[in-house]
Amino acid sequence: MALVNLKGMLNHARKNKYGVGAFDVSNLDMAIAVTQVAEEKKSPVILMGLTLDLQGDRLEYWLDNMKKIAKNTSVPVALHLDHATDIDFIKKCIDGGFSSVMFDGSMLPIEENIAKTKKVVDYAHRFGVTVEAELGHVGDGIVGNSEVGADKNTVFDNPDDYLTQPGELADFIDQTAVDCIAVAVGTAHGIYVHEPKIHFDRLAELNCISAVPMVMHGGSGTPDEAIKKSVATGICKLNIFSEMLTAFNITIKDELEKASHMAIWPHTLYQKPLEALQEVVRQKIDLVGSAQRIK
Ligand SMILES: [Zn+2]
Repeated sequence: MALVNLKGMLNHARKNKYGVGAFDVSNLDMAIAVTQVAEEKKSPVILMGLTLDLQGDRLEYWLDNMKKIAKNTSVPVALHLDHATDIDFIKKCIDGGFSSVMFDGSMLPIEENIAKTKKVVDYAHRFGVTVEAELGHVGDGIVGNSEVGADKNTVFDNPDDYLTQPGELADFIDQTAVDCIAVAVGTAHGIYVHEPKIHFDRLAELNCISAVPMVMHGGSGTPDEAIKKSVATGICKLNIFSEMLTAFNITIKDELEKASHMAIWPHTLYQKPLEALQEVVRQKIDLVGSAQRIK
């Protein structure tokens, strides 16, 4: 099946009230593991790349691998650049073959977020590439990069400052012509220390206003019922990373502790960790309701 962008995929999800799982994949093994589950579940899927995994020559290697995987997978696959802030880098990713990109201007003043998002949209749409933007700010703390900012421990003085403001949404979408929008309604990136409080009333209000499908970041560790309710309230794309890493790393630690020697071939060592990662993907696909959507 072909590589697709997010437009048709997420509009179908919105119309039929389900969500699509979006999984950050750092390498070939993770990408194959994710697409195998998507095929098994007959579900569309979004493979995402993070800037840290795409430095230097790695961008080209990553894209070569992922484009081939998308082409050989029997369900629709979107290749989406996650959380990018550098417009020149985003253009390079579009030129290289991503079918979708996120410009994250969520920490910028809104006027600047609008102007830069629009610049990305203008470029991306010339190539049929879709764009996700973020309005409000989902708490930072991408695993492995402590410089990004706070983590799920963060308590903001006034959390409402970081939530997506309904009064800004229609105008933002209108001015930028963005294809989907990440909203901040109480989830956060990384691993939760406290159970998140999802502002469902706010989400429902945003869903009534939004002309485009909405995206939830910080899906990892968000309780199952909260994810289901978020999808029922309009979330069409659910981002997952930390939970996959945790499942993989716990299992690999266990495998290494049990091993009688350390000269283990990677394909042997990675087998069970990748199966654990697949179980996370399987569970999220079931939760968002995207299984059996592809005939
Ligand atoms: Zn995110």
